[in-house]
Amino acid sequence: MATLDLQNIQKSFGDAKVLHDIDLAIRDREFVVFVGPSGCGKSTLLRIIAGLEEATSGKIVIDGQDVSRDHPLDRGISMVFQSYALYPHLSVFENIAFPLRVAKMPEPDLKAKVARAAEILQLTDKLKLKPGQLSGGQRQRVAIGRSIVREPRVFLFDEPLSNLDAALRGDMRVELSQLHWQLDATMVYVTHDQVEAMTMADRIVVLNGGKVEQFGTPMELYHHPATKFVAGFIGQPN
Ligand code: ADP
Ligand code: MG
Repeated sequence: MATLDLQNIQKSFGDAKVLHDIDLAIRDREFVVFVGPSGCGKSTLLRIIAGLEEATSGKIVIDGQDVSRDHPLDRGISMVFQSYALYPHLSVFENIAFPLRVAKMPEPDLKAKVARAAEILQLTDKLKLKPGQLSGGQRQRVAIGRSIVREPRVFLFDEPLSNLDAALRGDMRVELSQLHWQLDATMVYVTHDQVEAMTMADRIVVLNGGKVEQFGTPMELYHHPATKFVAGFIGQPN
């Protein structure tokens, strides 16, 4: 299981306060979407959870353990970025296997884990290809495969679909929802796209100016918006 508690997270860059007292309890195996306009602090919050950025104050607690001081690789968290940094000279297999090679995993275990990830992501027949021979959606799946093999407790996604065209984005939304179901993992997904938030989330966090406007199910936000901002933001056509 993996619960993720964000306790009174604050973040300032110099004089600029970009996160104000973020307090959220994310449940085991929940798919939570952070949504909000550009610059509201979504990526900063995700980077703090991942340990890539230090909070000015507050705690990140996973399964009841404070991981705020832990190295990013020791948190059991995996982050998938918008610009998927694949190694162009390595095969799909080696791209997915990369974190396991770094961890010096024995070859038979490594092969089994890559095979399983490839099966989940429908990349089994692409393992020998190079990233340059794949479509955008397939490349994104390789990046996700690299996260899966580490068997993280929590997956973080920062606008992973924003570089894809509309049709592919629709397909990938469905695939990510299936992935969530298959992996039984806790997932936090960042987007500025209301439709993505409404269709994918178990619960949505609406952020605005570094503050949580509302945390609730898509239906709660739609039928009972807590603020004018939520009403306008969720109600807006995309
Ligand atoms: P979002 O992902 O919601 O678009 P960000 O988290 O990237 O927003 O940024 C939130 C605010 O913090 C923005 O005003 C941005 O300019 C500022 N910011 C982000 N990273 C830094 C940094 N390293 N140094 C200074 N300001 C930053
Ligand atoms: Mg961002």
